[in-house]
Amino acid sequence: MIAENIRQIETDLQGRARLIAVTKTKPVSMLAEAYEAGCRLFGENRVQEMADKQPQLPADVEWHLIGHLQTNKVKYIAPFVTLIHSIDSLKLLQEVNKQAARYNRVIECLLQIYIADEETKFGLLPDEADVLLNSPELDALPNVRIIGLMGLATNTDDQDQIRREFRGLKTLYDKLATIQRPMLAFRELSMGMSGDYRIAVGEGSTLVRVGSAIFGSR
Ligand SMILES: *Cc1c(COP(=O)(O)O)cnc(C)c1O
Repeated sequence: MIAENIRQIETDLQGRARLIAVTKTKPVSMLAEAYEAGCRLFGENRVQEMADKQPQLPADVEWHLIGHLQTNKVKYIAPFVTLIHSIDSLKLLQEVNKQAARYNRVIECLLQIYIADEETKFGLLPDEADVLLNSPELDALPNVRIIGLMGLATNTDDQDQIRREFRGLKTLYDKLATIQRPMLAFRELSMGMSGDYRIAVGEGSTLVRVGSAIFGSR
């Protein structure tokens, strides 16, 4: 079942975006099944859960932190995390830099942008992202690299609204990608989940984060 779902989604994606299997709340046995089916990118939204699962999977797994990240928890994932999708402040970026330096790593990050019409979602406003990417403080962060943006569309059945939100994020991405700084290397746009990844890919997503369409509802 898991393997079949992954194959179906990969067929939909047609190589246009990479698939991150979102495994939050799912047991390691299910992650192993996805791995056997060819999945190498896994997404978790909680630090502790990701740190617990990481040693139980093969070393070639890429670990993507997709949920809200508190500064005091960065240290638990700094040794192994592949990409942090949820940077929403300079302070958090500074902590990631500090912890990455301890392991002689450069940790790649995305800025999470607030695009949804909902009060519960985290993220920077477009103007705040612009200010952050132009701030002089970034020059003091050699151990982080910002490689793009992430966003969550509104949880709605209105496909046009979802499409508009993704399109807006792509427009912002194209604008911010023109900023020239050593620690910026825009190449990833993380948008799309089980219910809206097809729309997201049509609007230029490079990374889709899919959980329930692979593993069933949580
Ligand atoms: C849980 C989660 C997903 C996956 O959601 P599904 O609807 O199960 O595909 C994607 N992105 C984030 C940030 C999540 O927390």
